[in-house]
Amino acid sequence: MSDINTLKIGVLGGGQLGKMLYQAGSRLSMNISCLESSADVPAAVVCPKMVNGSITEYEDVISFGADKDIVTIEIENVNIDALYYLEEKGVQVYPQPSILEIIKDKGRQKEYYLKHGFPTSPFGLYRDADDIERAIVDGNLRYPFVQKARIEGYDGRGVVIVRSESDLDLLLDTASVVESMVQIDREISVIAARNTQGELKTYPVVEMEFHPTANLVENLFWPSALDNETQDIAVNIAGALAEKMGIVGLLAVEMFVDTQGNVLINEVAPRPHNSGHHTIESCVTSQYEQHLRAITGLPLGDTSILMPAAMVNLLGEPHHSGPARYHGLAEVMKLAGVYPHFYGKKETRPFRKMGHVTITGSTLSEVRDKSKMVRNTLKVIS
Ligand code: ADP
Repeated sequence: MSDINTLKIGVLGGGQLGKMLYQAGSRLSMNISCLESSADVPAAVVCPKMVNGSITEYEDVISFGADKDIVTIEIENVNIDALYYLEEKGVQVYPQPSILEIIKDKGRQKEYYLKHGFPTSPFGLYRDADDIERAIVDGNLRYPFVQKARIEGYDGRGVVIVRSESDLDLLLDTASVVESMVQIDREISVIAARNTQGELKTYPVVEMEFHPTANLVENLFWPSALDNETQDIAVNIAGALAEKMGIVGLLAVEMFVDTQGNVLINEVAPRPHNSGHHTIESCVTSQYEQHLRAITGLPLGDTSILMPAAMVNLLGEPHHSGPARYHGLAEVMKLAGVYPHFYGKKETRPFRKMGHVTITGSTLSEVRDKSKMVRNTLKVIS
């Protein structure tokens, strides 16, 4: 291992995940730069080494990565060909481009789970909306089902629930995965970490509650109230998947627990994840530090829960667009164990992720009460 402070680490993307990654590395004075095409991004507030360029452009990614020891990502939508090139030239690229290529495409992800025996809902792959409609007419596809764009869907964009013929207008005309509708009891996430030497650690289960219309995680908490056996199954799935893929870095595994108690993989993200924000305040090792430990070959940190916690996503209020203001901040900051994180985005839009708040307490019910208060009080308006 080279000296941790001289290793040049490049991060593709300068959003909020890049910002928090930089902050975690800053305690160890890691040498981190971020590639972003706009100067007005969350990471720019903390990172003095912002490099101007597009993470989806071959040439930009190559010229950014060429002098780095390690290149990593904070978002999947990057130029993978450029990452293959850099890997060939000896740059350590984590997550590895071959894994990114599978994960970036929801169809290939599902095929991977099927091929390697990981539990996931039944699915089919379709070329476009016509292809789906034909399958319905031919009797090969039945309502209800969930259509997902194979690439570039995120935060619920690119996901359509089709319950009956009257929803067919909603179909996305793009290459898609069509999944059976799962009777979801709970949505959970487990983050696994694997370092360059193959050491593996998993975080405990997080429970996620979604915004009913925006399809974004609105609230999450831990420890989970699920029975221990189901939690063990979920943690083992996440660990086994990280091991099977051989990923270096984090793998956030989103899962459903259905009404029969089955645990099914929904999708994964090979990077720090929204479902791990609360690890900054409520876990021995934050997911951001863990990612950096993993990719630089340091020993992985302890993933024990320090105290119960919730995370409330701060979404732009509906009907508010324009320069962002935070209403109710003084009130929530009077409470102990309330940690607002603002991403520094200047403009708010309906449901835009503007920040999050971590709430800690000595019991889950105390945490739930405080998070309800935070959700009702702190608003992002224009
Ligand atoms: P995104 O990548 O945009 O987050 P997801 O694949 O996580 O998309 O889907 C968004 C949400 O849609 C999930 O959190 C879940 O609530 C719902 N959903 C996704 N797939 C299914 C399914 N097969 N059955 C039932 N609900 C689903």
